[in-house]
Amino acid sequence: MKRRRVIYEGKAKILYEGTEPGTVIQYFKDDATAGNGAKKDTIEGKGVLNNRISEYLMTQLAGIGVPTHFVRRLNMREQLIKEVEIIPLEVVCRNIVAGSMAKRFGLPEGQALPRSIIEFYLKDDKLGDPMVAEEHITAFNWAQTQEIDDMMATTLRVNDFLTGLFGAVGITLVDFKVEYGRVWENDFSHVILADEISPDSCRLWDSATNEKLDKDRFRRDLGRVEEAYQEVARRLGILPEGAPGELKAVK
Ligand code: 5GP
Repeated sequence: MKRRRVIYEGKAKILYEGTEPGTVIQYFKDDATAGNGAKKDTIEGKGVLNNRISEYLMTQLAGIGVPTHFVRRLNMREQLIKEVEIIPLEVVCRNIVAGSMAKRFGLPEGQALPRSIIEFYLKDDKLGDPMVAEEHITAFNWAQTQEIDDMMATTLRVNDFLTGLFGAVGITLVDFKVEYGRVWENDFSHVILADEISPDSCRLWDSATNEKLDKDRFRRDLGRVEEAYQEVARRLGILPEGAPGELKAVK
């Protein structure tokens, strides 16, 4: 078997050269980090669940016309994706105050926002992913004005759709982070949804109890992290084969 070329290795994923031109293989690891790498551990089965959950959400989004990088799932831990030029921004959409917003503005977690808010952060581990304004984005050429408009419009559509999708299975979408990539056709480019959408990148609370079903269980040492990710997959009706069908409540 030919050894595959690693294009990039991140904290939770590895990108390998794709099997077809213009594609990349995205491999989901079980590794988890928080606090910009200060906290590290392995969450058994996380990669398998995130691969499946991200496949499901990206496929549903493609179904309503959101352009995404997802091509097809290859196996338990890998999916084929379109090769893109990653825009070095994290686009965060918030419906309820939590996490860094609660900290930055001294607000209580759980306070509903009067409208969804979009924020941009620069993807730069050394700088700790600082929040940036549109003025910075265009001044430093991280993205063009049209791309910012497209990312904002798409992120709001993703938010509306996923709020309904999760809401139907008793999960509140508190906030999430997405990334976008540029694809070129001759001299023109457009942006498509890239990276992953999973409990690693979303805050998901049980609608009845506000119990956390996402990476905050790891970040805040709440325990039962894998069980929470499994619960999300179970409610979406996509538990991978071999996973236990019945789960005890996540405490
Ligand atoms: P916060 O800014 O409150 O820490 O995060 C807002 C939302 O974006 C949360 O759903 C969080 O999971 C997600 N998020 C922010 N930064 C990152 C990151 O570097 N990696 C991942 N996977 N998610 C992030």
